Amino acid sequence: MNKVGFFRSIQLKFIIIYILLLLVAIQVIGSFFTTELESQLVETYQTSVDDRLRLLSHNLEQALSRELTGAEDEVTPEEEVRGIVAEVGSEDGMELQIIDNQSRIIATNDYQSQSDVGKKISNELVQGVLQGGETEKKVVQYNREQIYVIVQPLYKEGEDDVTVGVLYAEANIQMVYEQLDNINQIFLKGSILAIAVSAFIGILVARTITKPIMEMRRQAQLMARGDFTQKVNVYGRDEIGHLADTFNDLNSRLKHSYATIEEERRKLSSVLSNMSDGVIATDNTGAVTLMNEAAGRLIGHDPDDIIGELLIDVLQLEDKIVDITELQDSGSMIIDFSNEEEEFLVRSNFSTVVDDEEEITGFITVISDVTEQEKVEQERREFVSNVSHELRTPLTTMRSYIEALNDGAWKDKEIAPRFLEVAQNETDRMIRMVNDLLQLSKMDAKEYPLQKERTEFVSYFHQIIDRFEMNIPEHITLKRDLPRGKYLVWLDKDKMTQVLDNIISNAIKYSPEGGTIQLKVENNRHHLLVSIQDQGMGIAYDKLERIFERFYRADKARTRKLGGTGLGLAIAKELVEVHHGKIWAKSVEGKGTTIFFTLPLMNKMWRGER
Ligand code: ATP
Ligand code: MG
Repeated sequence: MNKVGFFRSIQLKFIIIYILLLLVAIQVIGSFFTTELESQLVETYQTSVDDRLRLLSHNLEQALSRELTGAEDEVTPEEEVRGIVAEVGSEDGMELQIIDNQSRIIATNDYQSQSDVGKKISNELVQGVLQGGETEKKVVQYNREQIYVIVQPLYKEGEDDVTVGVLYAEANIQMVYEQLDNINQIFLKGSILAIAVSAFIGILVARTITKPIMEMRRQAQLMARGDFTQKVNVYGRDEIGHLADTFNDLNSRLKHSYATIEEERRKLSSVLSNMSDGVIATDNTGAVTLMNEAAGRLIGHDPDDIIGELLIDVLQLEDKIVDITELQDSGSMIIDFSNEEEEFLVRSNFSTVVDDEEEITGFITVISDVTEQEKVEQERREFVSNVSHELRTPLTTMRSYIEALNDGAWKDKEIAPRFLEVAQNETDRMIRMVNDLLQLSKMDAKEYPLQKERTEFVSYFHQIIDRFEMNIPEHITLKRDLPRGKYLVWLDKDKMTQVLDNIISNAIKYSPEGGTIQLKVENNRHHLLVSIQDQGMGIAYDKLERIFERFYRADKARTRKLGGTGLGLAIAKELVEVHHGKIWAKSVEGKGTTIFFTLPLMNKMWRGER
């Protein structure tokens, strides 16, 4: 947040308001004061002039009314008048002219106009007064100066109706105005001082208001950053003090809610990060807003890089949906993230987040790895179809033979026994297969009891080979490569016999004429390594892994002819594993196959000498 500039601050506004108020007050007071003062001063001046003139006119009337006695050194009334006027002088700015009833100027106090004495005057005002008018008083503007003009009749003493002359006076009021100007100057200086002082006070007053506000602002900034440790000072019990109190209250409430939210957030984030399922949240446009670690792992991206991207792109749904709102209806889907190296399937469950008005505000997608699950499901489907297929083949064969017998072949002494033998073989094969399947399903359900006993493996293996040698085809040789010592293993003999039977019969089945089958046992520290090697046609490298799968046959056409169902090695694998061993195969096509398996040895103490 920026700092408030001085020109936008409350402080300046305060000062301006203060000064404006003061200016208005000064203006009102000033104008009232000056007009009042002006009229007062002018009036006082005029009264003083009038008073002086009244006294003067009395003296002049006396002088002009005097009767001449005719004495030698007698002073004429004119001379006496001049004397009186000369006494008045012209220093105080008053000009006087005394005019007799013949309109001649008898005397003046202006030295420069002494030459006018004796001259006739043609002033209208004077003429008016001489002809019996009243005293005239008026203010005239002359050369930008205010002049107070008084024209007063002089009466003969004791006879108020006989005019003996006129007193013409001009008083310069300008002095009064100059005085007024001086006063105004003082007033202005005072006003400027008052404004300066009030501006200063304004700053101080504004400070008392802005300081707490500034503090609250700083506090609000801290709060915005999540720091609730500080409080603002409460300077007084006024409105701002109350505001500061409320602010502190808000601070503590926010602190509390913030702590609660933070706690919730922590809980949520720990739940999200410890979940094995991936969670992706988006806004209503489908842009990712949250994604947990598990989702990042499943999708193969850093969650931080995904934030802001569209869910449709992230989950590679471009081909399946066009608009994010379609997810609402799809509910759940399997997305294939497989590449050349590995298969990878992810199940996504979509749900919407709605607000109080049922408006969609976002989507939550939960994703989980279902590769294994899908694989198992796929295997199950394949298994069911394999079983049905494998059962149908012998059944159809049997039906056709039985039909033939039914159609009359039973009467034929030669064909009938052959047909019946085929039917019996097929039935045997079916029984064998169903037994195998039952065994596998029991092993799957772990309902398969083992009768393990301490067994000396080498002699046990010799017995098995002996049994095979009794009815082996003549063209095949069994070669033993067994150690001489005693090796004790903990095993279920019946089951192990089943394993060895299957491996050895496979070797015999797939051996060429004159082939040798090597049966070998090696001691590898903690376990025995058993291998059965033939010189048959071998198995292609890419099929080698799969021969231990149920129903898998490397060469379907051939093995069916040889009567196999593809369950033998699957059972062998399960059985070796319940004996805590491992089974695998090595093969070179055209050269032969070796099947290996291991069996853990019992305590070394029982191990014999080689
Ligand atoms: P079953 O044993 O149920 O009668 P099967 O022998 O066909 O039938 P498995 O023993 O499970 O089934 O063998 C699976 C497949 O592995 C066989 O069909 C065959 O293609 C291949 N196979 C097994 N052993 C050998 C071997 N020694 N040489 C070549 N191929 C073999
Ligand atoms: Mg077999």
